[in-house]
Amino acid sequence: WQTLSDRVQSVAPSVTLAVDAKAKAMKAEGVDVISFGAGEPNFPTPDRIAQAASRACLDPRNHRYTPTAGLPELKQAIADKTRRDSGFDVDPDQVVVTNGGKQAVYETLQVLLNPGDEVIIPAPYWTSYPQMVILAGGRPVEVFSGAGDGYMPTVEKLEAARTPRTKAVIINVPSNPTGAVWGADLMEAVGRWALDNHIWVLSDDIYEHLTYDGARTPYIGALVPPVRDQLIMLNGVAKTYAMTGWRVGWLIAPLPVAKAAGKLQGHMTSNVADVSQRAALAALEGPMDQVETMRSAFDRRRGAIVSALAALEGVSCPVPRGAFYAFCDVSGLLGRPLGPSGSLSETSTQLSERLLDEIHVAAVPGEAFGAPGHLRFSYALSDEDLAEGMRRLSAWIAA
Ligand code: PLP
Repeated sequence: WQTLSDRVQSVAPSVTLAVDAKAKAMKAEGVDVISFGAGEPNFPTPDRIAQAASRACLDPRNHRYTPTAGLPELKQAIADKTRRDSGFDVDPDQVVVTNGGKQAVYETLQVLLNPGDEVIIPAPYWTSYPQMVILAGGRPVEVFSGAGDGYMPTVEKLEAARTPRTKAVIINVPSNPTGAVWGADLMEAVGRWALDNHIWVLSDDIYEHLTYDGARTPYIGALVPPVRDQLIMLNGVAKTYAMTGWRVGWLIAPLPVAKAAGKLQGHMTSNVADVSQRAALAALEGPMDQVETMRSAFDRRRGAIVSALAALEGVSCPVPRGAFYAFCDVSGLLGRPLGPSGSLSETSTQLSERLLDEIHVAAVPGEAFGAPGHLRFSYALSDEDLAEGMRRLSAWIAA
């Protein structure tokens, strides 16, 4: 094993994917697992999108390579959608269509970072950001904000983490794992800070359409227009249209960055599967009614999970206003006897392992998000499973 590269040995595997894989393997063996693990809508991809893909499959023109950076009509649809949602114009040439939002983040960091460059990452964060920074030779700099702050940073905290090596900041609103939706004032202040200090802004907007209680996703490029020259917007169809497995995301960047990302992609994966791109085109060009149906189902489940979690002693969980995750401080459950066995969990990782083993409930430990002592519950599962999972959890804690 000494033959593996230092680079790959320097990163940790994805804990979220590992929890999901273990839950799926147990399910395949017939265990009745309730999974709050995956960041994956439980809805099928809307019919009209699947039908567009099915037609595309049967069209003999679609077996070919498309341009590496994506079908021109899809890039145009992404530019149109950006004007509609984010409120400003981008050129289709600024768009690179990627294999999911994940590849968009990866390519951006590969394109921007030199060895030793620092990237400020507000924590709790999406599990892949720091690992991707490391893979690009950079240094992740975490800035933690806890439940008491609604899991939101302040400009002062970001400024305290800034050094002459700071190259970029990653923002993700609504947030995975916390569901926090920053106010426009915070977003604007961060935009001005980044502008003044010549820091690239990576804005991961993948949960933009999933907001609740009247919260709206604030777009940094709309609030601080000059920041657009140092802004990379990261997005995809996975969460909005229940299309996780189709693998279509994109980045929108100043032209030299987009060109460089396209060059990199040309040596990595080439284009995203043509049929998937045509499905994404149908998604973006179609009406938003099915998105609204899914959003209101998530909203209902959010209400159910928040009240179930609030009733648990030792668990504290700010009300999430976006995405489909509830993120709880479970430090009150650590180091005390729990469950019928009465054994102790010292860390949230141990707690999540015990939950899966003892009551077959999967949740992702906070360690995966730079927040030990927490658990992330995805509520993108059925109402029945949600209720059953919460019932098991509450009985286990009470036992
Ligand atoms: N960004 C965030 C914050 C996410 O939560 C995810 C998926 O979990 C992604 C990006 C990547 O999504 P995908 O590659 O499935 O499009």
